Amino acid sequence: MEGCLFCEIAEKKRPAEVVFETDEVVIFKDANPKARVHLLVVPKKHIASVKDATDGDRALFGGLILAARDAAARENLAGYKLLFNVGRDGGQVIDHVHLHLIAS
Ligand code: AMP
Ligand code: ZN
Repeated sequence: MEGCLFCEIAEKKRPAEVVFETDEVVIFKDANPKARVHLLVVPKKHIASVKDATDGDRALFGGLILAARDAAARENLAGYKLLFNVGRDGGQVIDHVHLHLIAS
């Protein structure tokens, strides 16, 4: 998606501290971490918000959660939070779906 920050990170047009990547997902460090560990789990497919997902995206969302679980395991995290902010009123600032993985 033209002009989308997270698409540009996924396409390597902008720098980010990428910790893991597959054909479907890229995981990078949040530039303004709210906790000791704060990763963003981002689908390479542009979907603006959870609100904009379709039935065809069910597997993609399952994949995001399991990619986050695997990233947490690699970081040896005993526990963590997984969070989607949805819409401006839900705190979403970047209009490309991302799952926050947060741990103190
Ligand atoms: P949200 O409020 O759910 O849309 O979260 C957007 C997140 O993206 C925030 O936690 C920001 O700190 C983070 N962020 C913004 N720009 C960048 C960037 N260039 N690289 C990494 N993280 C970013
Ligand atoms: Zn995008």
